[in-house]
Amino acid sequence: MDANKNDVLVIGGGTAACVAADAVLNAGKSVAMVFPNGGSSEISAGTLDIMGVVPGEHPVICDDYREGVEKLLEKYPGHTYSKCKGELETGVEALLSLAEAGEYILKGFDGKNVWVPNMLGTFSVNAYVPSTMYEGAVVPGEKERVLVVGVKGNVAFNAQAAAMSYQQYQKKLGGKADYFSTEIQIKGWGDRRKISDGELADYLDTKEGKKELVSLIQTFCMNNRYSFDKILFPPVLGYLTYNELLAELKEACGCKVAEVAALGNSVAGYRFTRAVYRGLEKKGAKLLRGVSAKKLEAAENGVKVECVIGLTDQYHPGKRETFEVPAVVLATGGFVGGGIKARHTDVWIELLEQHLGKVTTDQLDRDAVHPAGQDFMRMGVQVKADMSVEDKKYNGRVFACGDVLAGHNSASERSGAGIAAASAYLAGKNAAAKI
Ligand SMILES: Cc1cc2nc3c(=O)[nH]c(=O)nc-3n(C[C@H](O)[C@H](O)[C@H](O)COP(=O)(O)OP(=O)(O)OC[C@H]3O[C@@H](n4cnc5c(N)ncnc54)[C@H](O)[C@@H]3O)c2cc1C
Repeated sequence: MDANKNDVLVIGGGTAACVAADAVLNAGKSVAMVFPNGGSSEISAGTLDIMGVVPGEHPVICDDYREGVEKLLEKYPGHTYSKCKGELETGVEALLSLAEAGEYILKGFDGKNVWVPNMLGTFSVNAYVPSTMYEGAVVPGEKERVLVVGVKGNVAFNAQAAAMSYQQYQKKLGGKADYFSTEIQIKGWGDRRKISDGELADYLDTKEGKKELVSLIQTFCMNNRYSFDKILFPPVLGYLTYNELLAELKEACGCKVAEVAALGNSVAGYRFTRAVYRGLEKKGAKLLRGVSAKKLEAAENGVKVECVIGLTDQYHPGKRETFEVPAVVLATGGFVGGGIKARHTDVWIELLEQHLGKVTTDQLDRDAVHPAGQDFMRMGVQVKADMSVEDKKYNGRVFACGDVLAGHNSASERSGAGIAAASAYLAGKNAAAKI
């Protein structure tokens, strides 16, 4: 492992880590990333949320994400965006171009948030969606005929229930579409009764899988006396060759085609993170997969990071190695990503040896999805204006970004990728400036 030869070590492999690494490369410095997995980015819907909803008793939905950030800061002046919003555009641009270099094309709507149908049968608000979901966006007032396709045995998506729910729910958004549904039976994997999203995506990556899906849909459209303006599929059109299959489906159907948005299914998140990794590797970042940081320590003019390499369990403790670098960016995520740990009521950040306190009843609402969000979700690392962690022992050489930061709740705000990109760009840039 030659992470020692790099200027900056980024700890993490999610959206924030990738953008931080990109900022270091753009500053002309070298960078290595260590991570055991892709964190919550890897299981995300693969869309970019920047600022969707200002949470509160009466949540405000943001039509325009830039205006949304301003409204949010009026209400929560200490919010994480107050430190990093200056890097929002650059951070998001960095993320878009990394993803594009890995052939995952994200499309925006001129700064507007749009509503896209999701697997639950409702609509999610997004600032950027992958090209596979772009044509699914609700066009207020448009009278279109939309077919929702489900796959027999793929129980994660019930097309009939989703279509009925879209029909009702769209009214709140000004949608005027008519939704229909069908369930197709794919036979290529045998006579199993159930098939997971991942298995279906694997099958649709094969030539036979593509051919079978395209021919089933084509037959359905030809036999149907109605024609459709748009056809929606579950977000499982392959891990690798989804762009190809989408193009084939469009040609076969002769109308708009899109995947509905996932809500955390690993197919879309996997495509997104792997594309960004490819983009980073093309630019020269060193990605050390399967490596976890275990300890951080200040060193003379730098930081020592003790890491464990490889999968570990009680019998296999892994190989330990210590890297010494001029600056570190901590992008280890929050409760889901692994950067923030919790047991009973205690919450802490292991790598910084920081106890964040106890979750008290006044930080919890009985309603798990209360529109104001759960207060404990805002717990995390405190940083200075340059994103260096406030603990003096690191001499301003450890920076933090993304979900590990205090002061935001990306789930209730729909701000996940936006916070990650803005805070990470700033952290990466300032870490690079330490060299
Ligand atoms: C189910 C789900 C769906 C979501 N969907 C969306 C969406 O569609 N759009 C959106 O914008 N936001 C979405 N979000 C929110 C978004 O995923 C997060 O806000 C964002 O990904 C946070 O990025 P991050 O890099 O800070 O953390 P993460 O993506 O969680 O990454 C943390 C990284 O740190 C690594 N790590 C942790 N501990 C260590 C250690 N000790 N050593 C080395 N590495 C370590 C992890 O392996 C991981 O690679 C979703 C979140 C969830 C949970």
